[in-house]
Amino acid sequence: MIKIINTDEFSYFLRVNRNDIIKRWLNKNEVQNILHRHSLPIIDKNTHILYEFCDCFISVIQWSSTISECQAKMVFLQLLNNYNVTTPELFTLVTRLRTSIEEIIFENGNLSFNLQSEIETHALEIISELSSNFEIVRSGKFDYKSENSNLLTEYKRAVDLSNIVSKTNPKGVITYVNEKFCEISGYTKDELIGRPHNIIRHPDMPREAFKELWDTIKAKKSWHGVVTNMKKDGGQYIVDTTVVPILDVDGDITEYIAIRHDITELEETKQQLRNINKAMKNKVDELYSMTNSLEEKANKDNLTGIGNRDSFEDIFSFEIQKAKENDSLLSLMVFDIDNFKLINDTFGHQAGDNILVEITSIISHNMKTSDIFARWGGEEFVILMPNTKLEDAYTVAQKLRELIASHDFNYNDKITASFGVAQFNAEDTKNTLFEKADEALYLAKKHGRNRVEQYS
Ligand code: GH3
Ligand code: MG
Ligand code: MG
Repeated sequence: MIKIINTDEFSYFLRVNRNDIIKRWLNKNEVQNILHRHSLPIIDKNTHILYEFCDCFISVIQWSSTISECQAKMVFLQLLNNYNVTTPELFTLVTRLRTSIEEIIFENGNLSFNLQSEIETHALEIISELSSNFEIVRSGKFDYKSENSNLLTEYKRAVDLSNIVSKTNPKGVITYVNEKFCEISGYTKDELIGRPHNIIRHPDMPREAFKELWDTIKAKKSWHGVVTNMKKDGGQYIVDTTVVPILDVDGDITEYIAIRHDITELEETKQQLRNINKAMKNKVDELYSMTNSLEEKANKDNLTGIGNRDSFEDIFSFEIQKAKENDSLLSLMVFDIDNFKLINDTFGHQAGDNILVEITSIISHNMKTSDIFARWGGEEFVILMPNTKLEDAYTVAQKLRELIASHDFNYNDKITASFGVAQFNAEDTKNTLFEKADEALYLAKKHGRNRVEQYS
């Protein structure tokens, strides 16, 4: 199927096929005949003119400019006139150029009807403008050299007003600087011309940055980037820079032109913004970690460092919900240190505290990480055991009870705890499950302490 080339694709298509279009145009029989008939050489600088005219033609039919704006056309017409090319021959040249474009398009796809008629209109405009211009050129009333040099003078004035401009020879020696260059760098023209361009190099600029610049321009390509330069007084200025290599007819580099805009203020503002951003980010991080540590503090028991009752109750609700939804097992263990009041009375409150911490440590080191251990209050602790049935909870409780009872706390008396365990069933709430475990604990106390009882 033939692809229809639309407006968006059209100008891209012309740009990438520009060289093919020109080649095809210059190889057309009628074009060759005209060139030969008038011995019009298409090497040396004439080729340049033909290329420029072709670019101009392309830019008109793709709407990037109008034929009256086309700078190359007068030079092109002057060239034809110098070689005595006639008006009909001019028409042939132009229509063949149009044919070459169309041929290349049709080989790659097809044009929409609208585009075809647009091209038709533009081509007619071009031909009519060229024929009247050709008349002027043939009458000898047009002097393209002075037209061009007027235009160049104006361009130069406009560029010099707004840009920092310098030229260097291929060795990097400055051959030209404009007023703006002197103004910003603090050097006079005499101090700059004849000196190597690196006179304005700032020591902070990495060498690699210049290597990339030189590699690019030596390869005859333009380079664009941001450079920090140094003033005569050591101060710095930042410039958005474009360096263009200028080639002679043989394609050799004759000089480099550098055009720059001062963007020091912009860059400094950007830096300030970056600093502010960074400071803000640090503040936010600080607040964030403060909030985190406050939250952590609020969830932890001060003395033992394990979860407190508040945080436990949150998890407890969540686990009850989960067990209900998934119909999964859940057991709760409650334990309380035996005769702790007596321990406090005998060894002092500090000793009591130490024992609480030590018991916490024993339990923490001997439980599953999936179990949730917290201090319920005073010397009473809870362990919530997801996916655990009553018998297993009972076994774990027995093991923990024995560990405490056999531990040497450095006090004369043996220290023990009593345990109650209960298993969640579908009707249980947080409160009823806790009450069941607490009731079992009460039984353990009642039956003599240092025991495990289960709720049945
Ligand atoms: P039982 O075997 O029946 O549990 O007897 P008990 O003495 O342990 O029971 P009771 O509830 O009467 O006493 C608990 C004691 O625990 C009272 C209180 O002084 C002490 N206690 C509670 N919290 C702390 C604490 O953080 N540090 C210290 N050192 N003692 C505490
Ligand atoms: Mg107690
Ligand atoms: Mg108690």
